[in-house]
Amino acid sequence: EFDVPKAKHWIKILNSKIQVQKNYLTDLDLAIGDGDHGLNMARGFQEVINKIENKEYPDLSTLFKEIGMTILSKVGGASGPLYGTAFIKASPIFQNKESITISELAQAFNASLEGLKLRGRAQIGDKTMIDVWEPVVTFMMEQGDSLRPNDLAQLAEKTKEATKNLEAKKGRAAYLGKRSIGHIDPGAASSCYLFKALANVLE
Ligand code: ADP
Ligand code: MG
Ligand code: MG
Repeated sequence: EFDVPKAKHWIKILNSKIQVQKNYLTDLDLAIGDGDHGLNMARGFQEVINKIENKEYPDLSTLFKEIGMTILSKVGGASGPLYGTAFIKASPIFQNKESITISELAQAFNASLEGLKLRGRAQIGDKTMIDVWEPVVTFMMEQGDSLRPNDLAQLAEKTKEATKNLEAKKGRAAYLGKRSIGHIDPGAASSCYLFKALANVLE
């Protein structure tokens, strides 16, 4: 079961992690980008928390739409529109639902993934957040209600680490070509936090 309180708790854990790892995310982006990913994520998710923390939501759809719109309006760069899209695309699945099954949650994330791919035009292997999102969401869809949160967390970690050996084909890091190899993708790292925080609340 996944519901409004759990979703809020998820975002709260995620934001705390992002605030603590802000400099780490920035260092990752300094190596292969412009060094603002930590700042972008920290600003965006703090805004989200400020907005949702003390507000009541009738259903998950309303909550996800608000999270997505806040990220869209507060976060620039490539990651803002992408994360914003992810939350907004998930929201219709939750229409009028205060609580959903893990299978339904997987479907919502699948809609997010489709939105991300449409928006960013990145494929698996391009060294972007898609390299975490696609395998993790595929796993969630396969497992459905028997999903084990710990397996989800481990897969997020493994796929994030695997971006290190990839050559970037999309985003700023693509300008570096082969010199992007040897560095973890910043967006893959923040996406790893997102799924690990989710695993945490699904325990
Ligand atoms: P910017 O690159 O504009 O400074 P950020 O630093 O906040 O934005 O985010 C960079 C991250 O965005 C990358 O590490 C990558 O994961 C993700 N990203 C960039 N372009 C794309 C894309 N076309 N599709 C998917 N993800 C992308
Ligand atoms: Mg950047
Ligand atoms: Mg930037």
